[in-house]
Amino acid sequence: MYDYLVVGSGLFGSVFACEANKKGKKVLVIDKRPNIAGNVYTQEIEGINVHLYGAHIFHTNLKHVWEYVNYFAEFNRFTNSPVANYYGELYSLPFNMYTFNKMWGVVAPEEAAAKIEEQKQKAGITEPKNLEEQAIALVGTDIYEKLIKGYTEKQWGRPCNELPAFIIKRLPVRLTFDNNYFNALYQGIPVGGYTQMVANMLQDIEVQLNVDYLENKADLDKLAGKVVYTGSVDAYFDYQLGALEYRSVRFENEVLNKANFQGNAAVNYTDSETPWTRIIEHKWFEFGKDKNGNDLPKTVISREYSSEWNTGEEPYYPVNDEKNSKLYAEYKVLAEKESKIIFGGRLGEYKYYDMDAVIDSALKLAEKVLV
Ligand code: UDP
Repeated sequence: MYDYLVVGSGLFGSVFACEANKKGKKVLVIDKRPNIAGNVYTQEIEGINVHLYGAHIFHTNLKHVWEYVNYFAEFNRFTNSPVANYYGELYSLPFNMYTFNKMWGVVAPEEAAAKIEEQKQKAGITEPKNLEEQAIALVGTDIYEKLIKGYTEKQWGRPCNELPAFIIKRLPVRLTFDNNYFNALYQGIPVGGYTQMVANMLQDIEVQLNVDYLENKADLDKLAGKVVYTGSVDAYFDYQLGALEYRSVRFENEVLNKANFQGNAAVNYTDSETPWTRIIEHKWFEFGKDKNGNDLPKTVISREYSSEWNTGEEPYYPVNDEKNSKLYAEYKVLAEKESKIIFGGRLGEYKYYDMDAVIDSALKLAEKVLV
């Protein structure tokens, strides 16, 4: 009946479905949630597009991906500049001259570099083997202690010396006064929200919501020649080799009867005592204005609480440490034997993918398999 059954209407599934449809393939997209767009789903509350499954800021160096998303949405000029709150001391993120000045009183870039080098030497780090050592090698012990350790251990629920170094390399370190969190040529938030952008990708494609693939796998598989599966790879195999570990996030959303709660889209609480990792104030992704450019009188905030994932909860972040990477490699062998199924996306490939990388990977798959 269908050439492709796409399981999951997040970015990977929606981009692939869109490309397959363009090539004249018959596509059915299913999703177990009552809505499309996976974790980029946004919902309008009090005139504000609320990122209900965590804040998503689109950023990329891939020109073709930027052009691709701009076909489905207009992007605003939002630049992510989070603030770190350490017991009421505020620091600029990512780590840049404003951060170093506040931390050490240094003014010149070379003074900051010297301070980092001195702390790195003192810690005796030559070849960083884990996140803790990598962080100290990049920014020194003071910043590690105040801005990284507490946040990271809350976020991942594991000590920094047991986490892979690559996680902290996501953050730029700059000896300039540049507060842009990302080293990306292109950045912004889709005007009107991500849900609308994904809806545009899925225009003309049949979508069925509230359909659980794994519960009805045998029947659903019969519907299509090929299946693109974007759910968790270990769930697909009924955890037969053991469960991969994920971090989950719980959001406490609040509508406040005030115009400005924290003056910024993201404030990270980097101490170890505050139970949440960060607070997102969604209106600032769109500069606090409604569709007509008027100031919004209310605000919506989300506190994020990170926890270990348990069956039945939403998995958000794969824990790409040694143990899980080994287990994933075994699942990958099984996945490659499933001739009818293609695994993709953050959960299907157990990879800490950013949105642009997910889109790029779906486009590459489309190029490879669609004729
Ligand atoms: N991180 C940190 N302090 C911060 C922000 C981030 O130590 O204030 C570390 C933390 O380990 C986190 C990693 O940097 O997991 C990557 O952060 P990013 O903001 O890229 O994470 P995401 O937005 O994907 O949750």
